Amino acid sequence: MAVAAEFTARLTTAGPTVDRLLAVSTTPAFVYDENRLHEAFALLDRVRAQSGCKLLYSIKALPFAGVLRLAAEYVDGLSVSSLFEARLAHEVLSGQGTIHITTPGLRPEEMAEVALLCDFVSFNSLPQWERLGRSFAGHSSAGLRINPQLSFLDDPRYDPCRLYSKLGVPLSQVKALYGQSGLKEHRIEGLHFHTACESRSFAPLHETVLHIERELGGMMEQLRWINLGGGYLFTRPDHLEGLCEVVDHLRNKWQVDVYFEPGKAVVGEAGYLVASVIDLYDSDGKTVAVLDTSVNHLPEVFEYQRRPELVGEEPSASYSALLAGCTCLAGDLFGEYRSLHPLRIGDRLAFRNVGAYSLIKASRFNGHNLPAIYAFERAGRLKRMKSYGYADYRRQWMEEPIDIERCEHD
Ligand SMILES: *Cc1c(COP(=O)(O)O)cnc(C)c1O
Repeated sequence: MAVAAEFTARLTTAGPTVDRLLAVSTTPAFVYDENRLHEAFALLDRVRAQSGCKLLYSIKALPFAGVLRLAAEYVDGLSVSSLFEARLAHEVLSGQGTIHITTPGLRPEEMAEVALLCDFVSFNSLPQWERLGRSFAGHSSAGLRINPQLSFLDDPRYDPCRLYSKLGVPLSQVKALYGQSGLKEHRIEGLHFHTACESRSFAPLHETVLHIERELGGMMEQLRWINLGGGYLFTRPDHLEGLCEVVDHLRNKWQVDVYFEPGKAVVGEAGYLVASVIDLYDSDGKTVAVLDTSVNHLPEVFEYQRRPELVGEEPSASYSALLAGCTCLAGDLFGEYRSLHPLRIGDRLAFRNVGAYSLIKASRFNGHNLPAIYAFERAGRLKRMKSYGYADYRRQWMEEPIDIERCEHD
């Protein structure tokens, strides 16, 4: 099935101009562009209309409430990875959508609340399902996260289908255990798999679905739903044709509800980090520019040894500087960037395409404050949504002894 031609226009908004971005009142600042979020969701909304798939936002990429509220205007629900995420999702949705959870980290003492908050629970292992699932099936719809055992990733750190994977029940076990009796007999209503990471193609999804169908065969008939996970990046509407085809196929063949739960694809390009130059000096012939941020605010820069994109970068300009973070770590570096003018103290810079997995993983390492959070609103106004200070740092690190060790997690 093809996606309509009108659908193939490129996403239009270029995002806030550099001047607007750099006009934040304090740095470091994390800015999210509401227009870009609306566009990403509107795009997915049309995939939903086209293919009948149900749409979730995987909140772990950026669980800021302002973003969740905006997401709630479009999605069928939110997908979460823990009790805390479930609570936040529940608070923001207030009943206006479903909550889906899968995690290796389910704990027995959390299950009653998880069952109350979550409409769909995909158990990560058979023992997890045996121990925790049976007690509440009937309340939420139970499913299994499966490991299709079909790998598309080179780096095992990000590959749920790696050898000795901890993510999902191996497909061969599902088949061996439930092949005779069927899944329905065991009150398992759905299957969940999430095996992609930053994939720009839906071909792996297509192959994975065919592989699962080959392995499970008639067992598929008993399913009520299938969750395709996230892990895909798409910036052009026509990139989503492959997804529509897979959803269409599954819905027609098995009469199941199909869920898609992207995270980074929605928020990645909507996020910017604005920083100021606070020191400049020569080091072995290169200009080092120290920023009032660090790789602790963009952990993927260090994790993946990735160079973040800079707004307004001039790759062929004559001046260059090594942009460095302000912590004690020698490798706290963003990379070397070129500019038309030499940098000066107080200059501001904005990294782009850093909306996902940045703020949520950010830390106050070395005692540097977390970025303030700004929304670039639809009307073109910058609004400060949140800022942190010493009180937050102090609360985290000052001891608060209690006499009796309490068993609670709130
Ligand atoms: C992280 C995750 C997602 C979202 O992944 P993105 O790469 O951000 O799209 C979806 N589903 C599950 C189960 C996940 O763990």
